[in-house]
Amino acid sequence: MKRREFIEKTGLVALSATAISACGSESGNATPDAKTEGCEPAKPIKWSMVTTWPKNFPVLGTGAEFLAEQINAMSGGRLQVSVYAAGEKVPALEVFDFVSKGGAEMGHGSAYYWKGKSKTFQFFSTVPFGMNQLEMDAWIRHGGGQALWDEAYQPFGVQSFPAGNTTVQMAGWFNKEVNTLEDLKGLKMRIPGLGGEVMRRVGVEAQNIPGGDLYTAMDSGRIDATEWVGPYNDLAFGFHKIGKYYYYPGWHEPGTILEGLVNKDAFAALPTDLQAIVKAACTVANAHMATEFMAKNNEALKVLVEEHGVELRRLPEDVLSELKSISEEVVRELAEQDAFSTKVYESYRQFHNNAKAWSDVSERAYLNIR
Ligand code: CA
Repeated sequence: MKRREFIEKTGLVALSATAISACGSESGNATPDAKTEGCEPAKPIKWSMVTTWPKNFPVLGTGAEFLAEQINAMSGGRLQVSVYAAGEKVPALEVFDFVSKGGAEMGHGSAYYWKGKSKTFQFFSTVPFGMNQLEMDAWIRHGGGQALWDEAYQPFGVQSFPAGNTTVQMAGWFNKEVNTLEDLKGLKMRIPGLGGEVMRRVGVEAQNIPGGDLYTAMDSGRIDATEWVGPYNDLAFGFHKIGKYYYYPGWHEPGTILEGLVNKDAFAALPTDLQAIVKAACTVANAHMATEFMAKNNEALKVLVEEHGVELRRLPEDVLSELKSISEEVVRELAEQDAFSTKVYESYRQFHNNAKAWSDVSERAYLNIR
């Protein structure tokens, strides 16, 4: 009896030791369940992604959903990300704080929404009269932009990767014509970020209102004009019912980056392959969104003009040229606020100048002749 008991016991010990080591090597997790009855499949890691977008909002909200789906699929379900629209867990403009505090592991928005934390963040969204989508991506990925972005977010315990881009936006919806700068004076307009600051200097009452509240704000007369994104999103919101003139080009947002925001502790706790998957999924989502905008905006522009009779207007040359010189002043002042801003600005400016020289003889030259 005693001998039999001994064999059974040692046999069990040996069996469970094998099981634990197999669980440990297969799960890739730091927390294997050391249960003696055997190896259980690794439990999926569950993340929440809070976003600044209304539920199912075309391209932006669905872009965040796409990002989560990519992470789920690439990881074979090992990392499962649930997406929350603005207001479901936190309001749109509180996403950064919520991820910073660890309320959610991930967020989707754009850096300029958090300019209350640091005005320097705006360089990582878009700069008026600055770089377009391809140039911005090139700066972030190959021109030192990502390292500066990491440095900017470091004090808040978060990190971001490009995970979408609006490409060149529209200047916005107005109910009166803009022929001179005087026409802008006194207008209450929704225009966030640096573009808003530029508008403030020409006498516009610039404000930031989350997308979901915009139609009501414009319809009720709380604002007289609004910019949002471009034809596809603007058509979905029905701005053609409350705005007469649709102005271009979107000088204030020539290639706005949407970010995949991660809580650094949550990110660091992932095995390295899942970290790589999160970053790769952001890259896929980035390209997916930019190309979706190209495909959808051209169809929507046609619908707005041909079916809804929207009057498409180009901002006059002298208005644009004035807005450009004010933009340069605003960005220079932003750069002068502290040493870190100067560093980001210098990197941005240098890359922009070089990229411009190349874009002029490539993209611009081609667009002009085709
Ligand atoms: Ca916009």
